[in-house]
Amino acid sequence: MKIIEPGSLPPCEQIFAAVYDAVYLIDPESSNIVWCNRQGYEDLGYKADEVLQHSVLSLQKDVTGLPQWSEIKAVILANEVFRFIGRHAHKDGSEVAVEVNTSHFDYAGHTYFVSVARNINQRLALEVDLNSRNNRIWFALNEAADGFWEWQLEDNSVFFSDKLKQMLGYGPDEMTPHLDTWVKNVHPDDFERVKEILEEHLAEKRAIYQARYRLRNRNGHYIWVDDTGKVCQRDEEGRPTHVVGMVRDITDHKKLEFQLENLAAHDPLTGLMNRREGEKQAARLFQLAKRHGHSMGVAVLDLDFFKDINDLYGHQKGDQVLAYVGRLLQTQMRSTDVLYRWGGEEFVWVAPLDDCDHLQPMMDKLHQAMREADWKATGVAPVTLSIGLACSHEGSDDLETLLSQADKALYCAKDQGRNRTVIYDESQE
Ligand code: GH3
Ligand code: MG
Ligand code: MG
Repeated sequence: MKIIEPGSLPPCEQIFAAVYDAVYLIDPESSNIVWCNRQGYEDLGYKADEVLQHSVLSLQKDVTGLPQWSEIKAVILANEVFRFIGRHAHKDGSEVAVEVNTSHFDYAGHTYFVSVARNINQRLALEVDLNSRNNRIWFALNEAADGFWEWQLEDNSVFFSDKLKQMLGYGPDEMTPHLDTWVKNVHPDDFERVKEILEEHLAEKRAIYQARYRLRNRNGHYIWVDDTGKVCQRDEEGRPTHVVGMVRDITDHKKLEFQLENLAAHDPLTGLMNRREGEKQAARLFQLAKRHGHSMGVAVLDLDFFKDINDLYGHQKGDQVLAYVGRLLQTQMRSTDVLYRWGGEEFVWVAPLDDCDHLQPMMDKLHQAMREADWKATGVAPVTLSIGLACSHEGSDDLETLLSQADKALYCAKDQGRNRTVIYDESQE
């Protein structure tokens, strides 16, 4: 037998090239792949040097951005090995199902992650031989459908399907099959609402259990889910014994919904709330004021001689000034106030107050901030504001009344020479 001398072993590159799994060396800081073996690039349809220009973010379909990467990074660093089932993005746009083990080590003052990714596309395809009934059911529960769960109320054991675990970033042998696993991962702000819906269904007050809420995934990051379930078995006394359900990941849908809501609620030029949203939020403040007996202040703010800015510097510059003033106003408001663009070059400020006398000093500060603003950088001559104020004691008036009074006071401020605040009184009627 020929003895192999340690000095004559093949180089590491050659050994790794013969490894059937993809091996990636990752720089945790940049999330870039700094080295990989042959399988690492071939699995994803790349050439050797192409994959090195990529970060994990572009290759991993389940990692959606840098904030999520920092969460994953922390989990990897805190564990000896981080295992998950996920999807890699192939160069041709398809997905590669992978089972990944990632560990970390230090070398020459740097920390590295090493990920070993096994392509499980083939294994999944083999497992899903759809010829037998069992396999069809397996496919329905684990691949075709969303996450599936089954809860046995007798001992609170819960079966979580592989697909559900995958949705949350867990491997097939993870997630304790118990109700507590679910309870611990529902967002605390959603839990009571979801629990109530579930209890109403168990008590037959609702035909099905259906809830939209946030579930924490393995990285501590929340995904939005649509969860639907139904009692499928009861005992002789009618008490539920078995509940089954499906969980669907609706995070992308929710993101779009939030973006649309945000778009519908904000003025694109200044980024402030638009009139519709502002009035909605202001109405909420008025309701609170009525309940708690607070005073409410309303200010209508109008830029002075703004037409001249447009005429002198052009409409585009005028837009920039409006956006600049919007930001400046925002830095002056308190978190309890509501500020919105009423229209044109007019803004409305709604403030809950302990005392109506507090409103004037707030506006004085605003005039001062306008005086001290960096108009040079904006490229226009200093702009001033006129403000009309109205206040209701102990929530006695509504937004509409105060707006109309503040508007009358604003008219007086303009009349008295602009760049000032005037408080409403009955003589202005
Ligand atoms: P006053 O001191 O009396 O308020 O004078 P003013 O010129 O500000 O008032 P006026 O109501 O005569 O004109 C308001 C101007 O604001 C006219 C309009 O072109 C301008 N404006 C309104 N909305 C916008 C906008 O979105 N962008 C720009 N650039 N200008 C706007
Ligand atoms: Mg105006
Ligand atoms: Mg004006």
